[in-house]
Amino acid sequence: MKSAMLTSLLLLSLTGLPTEAELKTQVARFAPTELKADLSQLPASEKTALAALVRAAKRLDSLFLAQVWGGNPSLLLSLSQDPSPLGKARLHAFLVNKGPWSRLDNDAPFLPGVPPKPPEAAFYPGDAKDEIQKLIQSGEGEVKKQVTSFYTVARRDPAGALVWRPYSEVYATELALVARDLEDAASATANASLKAFLSARAKALSSNDYKASDVAWMELDSAVEPTVGPYEVYEDGWFNLKAAFEAFITVLNVAESQKLATLSGQLQELEDHLPIDHEYRNAKLGASSPIKVVDEIFASGDANHGVQTAAYNLPNDEDLTREKGTKRVMLKNVQEAKFQKVLLPIARSVLAPKSQKLVSFDAFFTHVLMHELMHGLGPHESPPGSQKTVREALASDYSALEEAKADIAGLWALQQLVDKGVLPKELEKSMYVTFLASAFRTLRFGLNEAHGKGQALQLNYLLDKGAFTVGPGCHFDVDPAKVKDAVRDLTHDLMTLEAEGDKGKADALLGTLGLIRPDTKCALDKLGKVPVDIEPKFVTAEKLLAE
Ligand code: ZN
Repeated sequence: MKSAMLTSLLLLSLTGLPTEAELKTQVARFAPTELKADLSQLPASEKTALAALVRAAKRLDSLFLAQVWGGNPSLLLSLSQDPSPLGKARLHAFLVNKGPWSRLDNDAPFLPGVPPKPPEAAFYPGDAKDEIQKLIQSGEGEVKKQVTSFYTVARRDPAGALVWRPYSEVYATELALVARDLEDAASATANASLKAFLSARAKALSSNDYKASDVAWMELDSAVEPTVGPYEVYEDGWFNLKAAFEAFITVLNVAESQKLATLSGQLQELEDHLPIDHEYRNAKLGASSPIKVVDEIFASGDANHGVQTAAYNLPNDEDLTREKGTKRVMLKNVQEAKFQKVLLPIARSVLAPKSQKLVSFDAFFTHVLMHELMHGLGPHESPPGSQKTVREALASDYSALEEAKADIAGLWALQQLVDKGVLPKELEKSMYVTFLASAFRTLRFGLNEAHGKGQALQLNYLLDKGAFTVGPGCHFDVDPAKVKDAVRDLTHDLMTLEAEGDKGKADALLGTLGLIRPDTKCALDKLGKVPVDIEPKFVTAEKLLAE
């Protein structure tokens, strides 16, 4: 699964199709941004492998377009032959959205003569929903396996019966070329784990069996860190079953990986000092899932449209994850680009002038890392020893409260590590204001989603404690004298609530604090012109291909 640092969307009411100027305004919500990575330490063998992987990734773009809608490939061809200014604006919008519908605007079409975006994509015949629904519910054996496979599509045979065809057959020609690129990369690399993954993945493209290569992906221990194949199921708007093609071609970020290792080494001690009753602490933390911090060189297909992915967890195959867990990949340079193009302008609008200059990417990203790690700390059962998970106990409130917990406990943990001298003292000045600015980035996209709701809860709690303040012009600020205690108190309250598993209390807390209050609305209203996200320009990849 992926997180894009936002979910719900700006609505634009359209009467008729957008003009050239309107299209440009739509696309300008994505600020063009160069994505770079430092390859100077990479041996020639790995650069050769990387270049082959970028070539493979480029091919997946056209496969993804064909998966979204059968009309896309010919539409792209005709758009690329239109030299008029309107034609160029349309092509740009098409490439950003991977199709003729604006993803930020409820999939409103922006080209003439196209149907509404088909929720079934090109995975199923448009008239087959009920028929497939029945097969999902009551199908058995091989049929059920075909229907629910990530890697099959449904078609009708000449007699009108549904048939299930593997990706390896439907996309055979293109996948053979992708496999060749992967094999080229496998022969180039000197890293055994990368060679193993790429060879296994190349085989999977023709066998349609992805399990062994998913395991090899989990076990990657390499400077070049590619994710390439059919993965996420969001594009299947009917059943979330069919995987779309994508690629993230990335390299390990050595400095951040070291920081992550430092933070991970502190987790048991943090757990032992959590501000909760000691019976709610874990005497021995379980092994946490692996996290990789990488820089993105190139992304394609499902990994490059509209709002850019900032981090993802894979694989999605539950048979596999029950046994092997998942791996989380965090795209540091993508997060930095979003920070520069979205978070800094937000900070300039909503923070008190004296605090704006304290906002820093290092504070932002260190907190993001800590947030991920803190999901693993604190109560996992409610009540402890009951074998009932916190998720079961808090049901519909769980996601918002767990996200709020990871956020606020992350902030608490950073303060502990600053106090211990594990993290630099300067971080203390920047981390609270950076957190405050970042709250508005999350809130901007509404409360319908766990991160937004959880963020509203935190903001209001900290305002009520006087840890955050609102001044003239709805400029927000941090009160350094009160913020540490308030962060510790909220960490205590949320973790205790998770341990007790009291759904009624959780409802009440979210009901009173999970709201946008007038001062917050006033600040959010100032953000209309701030970009929604970035449009990546893969300059390092292009340079690599040109070498
Ligand atoms: Zn989280």
